[in-house]
Amino acid sequence: MNTHHDWTQLKCLGGRLCLDFINTVDRAVEQTGTREESSFSSEWLTDAIALINWAQQVQLLSPAQTKTLKKQAQQQPELAQDLFVQAIAFRESLYHLFSAVSVGQAPPLDALAVLNRWLTAACSQSQLVWCEAKFVRRLIDTNQLEFILWRVAQSAEELLLDPMLTRVRECAGTDCGWIFLDTSRNRSRRWCDMEDCGNRAKAKRHYERNKQ
Ligand SMILES: [Zn+2]
Repeated sequence: MNTHHDWTQLKCLGGRLCLDFINTVDRAVEQTGTREESSFSSEWLTDAIALINWAQQVQLLSPAQTKTLKKQAQQQPELAQDLFVQAIAFRESLYHLFSAVSVGQAPPLDALAVLNRWLTAACSQSQLVWCEAKFVRRLIDTNQLEFILWRVAQSAEELLLDPMLTRVRECAGTDCGWIFLDTSRNRSRRWCDMEDCGNRAKAKRHYERNKQ
């Protein structure tokens, strides 16, 4: 698979790290109306190196961390590949979890269990530190690949416990499946990106109107 993405084209419209992680792929709708992992129409995360590049792009990793992690992934390709497979499974669990939440449904229990496993790991790898006049939970080992997923897990927990959770939406675009926080004043945002899915939906309506 092609791993030479143009990362400057990556759109981060989710409003939270965990949502931008979910939005690293477009999810096509199957005939049944549900979105399936098998029908991914575009994919940013093609391997462990792409995952590291993504993390750098969203400023989760410093240039020095990025370099260290890439070196590790190259030295231990099997471990890196294993973690990459887990990352994709984690991402799809997060998608199913937030997709359910966005329509007021209970989350799938297996998806919640996957998040809890990552949270347990993140918790065991972090400690409370005093930083700029307040306490924050900070990961101790920032130089291993899991660090990226620990941070994503922490971001998901923060959002799930935040009153802003009621503003989580799934894009109304047909082949999208992106999740975002609707911070519009009248809570009317329907699309991940008006210029993208919004315009496509408008063009489709226009086409159907003219067809009649
Ligand atoms: Zn969309």
